[in-house]
This record gives sequence, structure tokens and C-alpha cells, in this order.
Amino acid sequence: MPDRITRIAVTLIATPIAMKRAQGSGAVARAVKRVIVQMATGDGIEGLGEAQAWEPFGGTAEGTAAAIDLYLRPVLEAADPSAISAVMAACDQTLAGHPEAKAAIEMALFDILGRRLGVPVHQLLGGAVRATIPLSFSIADPDFAADLDRARAMAETGHRIFKMKTGFLSPPEDFSRFERLRAAVPSAEIRLDYNQGLSVIEAPAVLREIAALKPGFIEQPIPRGHERVLAELSARLDVPVLADESIFDAADMLRCASERWADAASIKLMKTGGILKARRISAIAEAAGVPCYGGTLWEGAIAHAAAAHLIAATGNISLGCEFYMPRYAMLADVVQQGLAIESGAVIVPTLPGLGMVLEPGEFKRQTELAR
Ligand SMILES: [Mg+2]
Repeated sequence: MPDRITRIAVTLIATPIAMKRAQGSGAVARAVKRVIVQMATGDGIEGLGEAQAWEPFGGTAEGTAAAIDLYLRPVLEAADPSAISAVMAACDQTLAGHPEAKAAIEMALFDILGRRLGVPVHQLLGGAVRATIPLSFSIADPDFAADLDRARAMAETGHRIFKMKTGFLSPPEDFSRFERLRAAVPSAEIRLDYNQGLSVIEAPAVLREIAALKPGFIEQPIPRGHERVLAELSARLDVPVLADESIFDAADMLRCASERWADAASIKLMKTGGILKARRISAIAEAAGVPCYGGTLWEGAIAHAAAAHLIAATGNISLGCEFYMPRYAMLADVVQQGLAIESGAVIVPTLPGLGMVLEPGEFKRQTELAR
């Protein structure tokens, strides 16, 4: 007789952050809202999941919490927690969209299965092909000088990748910020993320000029919906173009692969709706020779641990990750021990399940902050 899910708790929390973030779309200040899922089985195993919804991407924290609590709870109650594919298929049949909610649920199921078997989640995915993941830090503080100081200090501790948010200031300001950042961290790779910030009409000239400065890649320069132009830009520029907002699911990736929209793709659990769907996207990308990058919204260590296990077990997600928020941007996370970061890389967790344990005091505090 398989075990059953007997308890599901869905909690909205608000996490205070240390610095403002100007990202072109969806500026972040003071606090970010997240949803924590605690799922328990009849034999007493508890799994954790986390969702973060970012309004310019489509979801909201409140909508995500309601999706789990009101609409997906009936699917989960009394379900076999080890039948992860079947449970997720039932979630898809019950509720369209809501990838953030589904990612959090799937995370908790993988956490339960890993704990039950005494193995880390990446072993459930075929085992690790890498033990560390290079970490990219985003340069997005409206106080650019503060970010330069941060980047310098981080470079001294081994960080080698910085991603500058561009496109929300004028092109000359972006060129000058690029030059100042390069001077501050001369041996680091500098990547650019426009967050859809350029119009189709201005993008060719702006990108030709900034590509001459040799960024590591240029992420989503123009809005989703203009993929034919994105493909032309990718073909024309001799710097890799990475698609983020243009690719949410496997169907998007299939078109990206066949129509050569971009040279690389960003995979985020909050876009894909979980690890299993992310692997499908990465498999299509791999077949097309398109490497992937581990993106994130404003998640903490629970979601980042899930993504780290995915990347550890998925060779084609080879462009590093940006799981810096819990360590470098949040004032406190809600877990006892977050992901370890050493010499500019995330260390893939090796404890059973996701490898994360809630810190009750901070969890309670951030729950009250969200009220
Ligand atoms: Mg992006």
C-alpha cells in the first residue's frame, strides 16, 4: 500500500531585502513575497516547496497561494507522493497555467521521495554530472557605485560572472556602466540582460554597438512575441543571444530550436512549472545545440536547492546560475542553512531530498510580515 499525502500547509511570507533592484521591468524594493509549501505523508515524512511569482512574468504570490490551497489541494489530498509524474499530470488537468504553484508542489514531492529513500534529489534525476555551479550576480542596484563595490568584493572571493541589467537607462549610460564594471572586475565575464527592454526598431543598432564590448551573452533584448526579430539579431551578432521571456515551455523551446531564435536559453522553475518540465525543455535545447542557463525569479534556498539538483543532473544547463538572492540580497531566508557558495560557485547539496530545513523563528516572522 503506497503512502499518502495527509497534510498540506500553504503559507505566504514576505522576505525583507537588503538593496533595491532596478531590473527594467518589475523593480523590487523592501520585501519580496514568496509562498512556502509544507507537505507531510502518513508515515511522517515532510517535504518543502517554494514558489515566487513575479508580476511582469505573469503570476502573483496571492494567486499562487490560492492555486495550491484552493484548487490543487483536492488533487494532492490522498495522492501517492511517490507518483510524481502522475500527480503533476493531474495538477495540469485540474488547473491550466500557474507554473509557480506547480513548481512548488513538485519540489515538495521530490523532497519527500528523496528523504524517504535517503538520497539527494539529483540522484533521483540520474545522478550528478557536476558538483558545483558557477554563480552569476546581477548588477541591478539603482545605486551603481554600490554595485561596483559589491562586485569588487565578490571578485576577491572568487566570483567570475556578473550580469548587468540594461535597457532601462539610455544606451550611452549602459555603455558607460559596462566600461566601469569591466574596469572594476577586469577578469570577470560580464553578461547583459535587457529584460525585453529594447524596442524592435532600436535593438539592431544598440546591440551592434554594445556587442563590440564583448559581453558573455545578451539576454532577451526585445519583448516576447517578436521572436522572428530575435532570430535575426542572434544570427547577426557575434555575441551569443540568450532567450528568457520568449521561452516558458517545451513548445516554445521546440520553436526556438527549429527557428533558431537564440543561441542559449534561460530555464527557471517558476516558468516551467517544475523540474520534470525543465528537463524536457533542456533535452530539446540540447538536441539543437542550445546550452541553458539556471535563471531564477526572487526565490530563496528551497527553490534554489531544487534548481541546483536539476542543474547538477542536467549536463546541458551548462551556463551557470543566478541563485545569489538568499546570500547577497535577502536580509534573511527561512531555512536553517542555505545553499553553500564557495569560490563563486554554488555547491550542490548532498543531504537527502532537497537538503533544506525550515528555521521556525524566521518563518514565523516573515509569515507575520506578509499579513
Ligand atoms: Mg532575464
